[in-house]
Amino acid sequence: MDKDPLKYKRLREAMVTRQIEARGVSDPAVLAAMRKVPRHLFVSEALRDQAYGDFPLPIGYDQTISQPYIVAEMTQALQLDPDDRVLEIGTGSGYQAAICAEIAYRVYTIERIHALYLRARRLFDKLHYHNIVTRYSDGTAGWKEESPFDAIIVTAGAPEIPNVLVHQLKLGGRMVIPVGDRFSQDLVKLVKDEKGVRTTNLGGCRFVKLVGEFGWKER
Ligand code: SAH
Repeated sequence: MDKDPLKYKRLREAMVTRQIEARGVSDPAVLAAMRKVPRHLFVSEALRDQAYGDFPLPIGYDQTISQPYIVAEMTQALQLDPDDRVLEIGTGSGYQAAICAEIAYRVYTIERIHALYLRARRLFDKLHYHNIVTRYSDGTAGWKEESPFDAIIVTAGAPEIPNVLVHQLKLGGRMVIPVGDRFSQDLVKLVKDEKGVRTTNLGGCRFVKLVGEFGWKER
């Protein structure tokens, strides 16, 4: 079976042109990755034809795959180089990890829901993403053994920036994380250098909750 038929290639091209380039994302590596990764394989069969629409989609377990534009914007904000090691908190469908894996050297991704972790891991194998390392745990504590990272991307909304993640960032490292309340957040970019930490607000967004020791407490 052709996993990437022409129909989806066309939808993907339209997605990149109309939703992503049109809104100002210009990093060539990000655009190339968004043109390449078969997003329709990261959602359930019933939703495949909607995979390239301008919206998030449910992936089960009350979680979502982010809107394509948000994925592109966050990836561009990470300013990835080909030799970068990236930490992602919130594997979900695995789509964001795959986009980063097209650009960076290696992606370490953590998921707290076992079924999603398993599903993403199988998909990474099937699509030959050998540079994605998966882990099933609470990602709010980061991944100390593999730190420090060049970039950290948190794809769930946090009440505040977990300090432990800032510690696991290299000097010169970049982090993007949605910060706010349970209903809406600001997409915050953080850069760590010799002088300290600088944050900029990239604008409003809406993510599912980051649940864990340094995130929202369950219930
Ligand atoms: N990056 C994903 C977006 C998934 S939605 C994608 O491209 O599809 C956010 C995910 O974060 C959910 O799967 C949720 O279970 C997970 N998550 C929430 N809190 C977490 C935590 N503390 N550690 C790891 N994963 C977490």
